Amino acid sequence: MHIRKNDTVVLLKDFSGPSPSRKGATTRVLRVFPKKGTLIAEGVNVKHKHIRANTNRDYPRGGIIKKEAPINISNVALYCAACAAKTKAAEKTVEGRKTRICRKCGEPIQTTA
Ligand SMILES: [Zn+2]
Repeated sequence: MHIRKNDTVVLLKDFSGPSPSRKGATTRVLRVFPKKGTLIAEGVNVKHKHIRANTNRDYPRGGIIKKEAPINISNVALYCAACAAKTKAAEKTVEGRKTRICRKCGEPIQTTA
């Protein structure tokens, strides 16, 4: 799994739905599911979710909410802020700590957290 939570990623595919997102758009990774090979990206693959009343503590009255559904990790690529393009990460050990660097420019991969 080369993509982690809070990474900035580029979409490699169009996603439709209540709030569509286009191929080439950048977004933030909210969660990763390494076993499934999927992740949840902010505002991508939004689905309407129907909630019955009295089944969910956050929505006691039920209703329809918008929620991101997981997407396959192959539909996104890591984004390098220095290159302003999609890239792949290489691992480098600096002062005993593993960091990820951009394979194109060698800059550390920027995360939003
Ligand atoms: Zn780069």
